[in-house]
Amino acid sequence: MKQFDYVRPATVAEAVAAAAQPGAAYLAAGTNLLDLMKGGVSRPDRLVDVTHLDGLDRIERLADGGMRIGALVSNANLAHDADFAKSYPAVAEALLSGASAQLRNAATVGGNLLQRTRCAYFYDTASRCNKREAGSGCDARDGENRTHAVLGWSENCIATHPSDFCVPLVALDAIVEIEGRSGRREIALDELHRLPGDTPERESALEPGDLIVAVRLPPAARGFAAHVRYLKVRDRTSYAFAVVSAAAALRIENGKIAEARLALGGVAAKPWRARAGEDVLRNVAPTVDAFQEAASRALADAKPSGDNAFKIELARRIIVRALSLAAAGTPVRIPALPASPFASTSGAIHART
Ligand SMILES: Cc1cc2nc3c(=O)[nH]c(=O)nc-3n(C[C@H](O)[C@H](O)[C@H](O)COP(=O)(O)OP(=O)(O)OC[C@H]3O[C@@H](n4cnc5c(N)ncnc54)[C@H](O)[C@@H]3O)c2cc1C
Repeated sequence: MKQFDYVRPATVAEAVAAAAQPGAAYLAAGTNLLDLMKGGVSRPDRLVDVTHLDGLDRIERLADGGMRIGALVSNANLAHDADFAKSYPAVAEALLSGASAQLRNAATVGGNLLQRTRCAYFYDTASRCNKREAGSGCDARDGENRTHAVLGWSENCIATHPSDFCVPLVALDAIVEIEGRSGRREIALDELHRLPGDTPERESALEPGDLIVAVRLPPAARGFAAHVRYLKVRDRTSYAFAVVSAAAALRIENGKIAEARLALGGVAAKPWRARAGEDVLRNVAPTVDAFQEAASRALADAKPSGDNAFKIELARRIIVRALSLAAAGTPVRIPALPASPFASTSGAIHART
């Protein structure tokens, strides 16, 4: 492993100053970053350990009814927070469908948002990868690419973003709070991750030194709690990243959809908000025909990037299924196999009430 400096700042301001130089990286639980460093994929000059910063490990109910989650809250603690799970059940279900129990106990909110792609060519330093080394080429393009992107990809990069958590977050208009060299700012989660275009090495809107301090869910997102689901298709039932996933949220009034939210995972370099699919669901009855139309619109621009044409059909079916489940009503308990299309509501592991 390449040599690096290690610093453990005591305050957010010290952390931002310590990470402002090129080559620095924040270290949270390290469940992604340390693996990448051991493999020579990430080669930071300095690690800025943020795990001891005060106040970033809180889950707070805000006066406006929304919730603010500190960047150091663990994925497990957030999913098992009763108030959070009741208000945002699909987010809790997505968290519980990710990784293994041990990893979820360690992994943090900030680290989950910024985890790197699972493209095998990115991980293999003997392969060409424009994301790992700008301008080197992309071996995934003509390689083993059944799990790669079908939306928003470019000839320079067909990698996908792997986070489950981000998918319902982007559907629910989550906001990211960032502390940077010029102070505090916030952006929509939808603007945090970038599509590859000609610069796939630039994965997010963050600048050097930018620290994610919290994620906020707006009060309006709670309005979907009765009709919201996250569904994830994975290659094996135990821990595995999504081949395709979908978050579907509906607000149903007088038998019609007043508002719909739809987002996809495993299909693009960012959590994919499917606004075209949402548009056709406004003010219509929640029927399978309407859901099929929404899925067709959501995937109208999808193109296979290699061996993965099956993902377009899979995404279409997962959208229809997620919307149908959301319309039927959110289960009171999170199923024993969270987010799995094969889960039943019996054997639940975690009550929302
Ligand atoms: C075997 C395995 C299976 C997994 N399966 C899944 C899965 O099914 N679904 C899923 O979603 N994830 C899965 N994961 C990924 C896991 O969720 C991530 O490794 C984890 O969320 C990263 O969090 P962390 O705190 O360890 O981040 P770290 O590894 O410490 O950091 C990750 C990145 O985020 C940056 N960073 C961390 N915190 C901040 C911050 N506050 N501000 C700015 N930058 C920051 C770091 O510099 C680094 O670049 C899996 C991981 C493993 C090892």
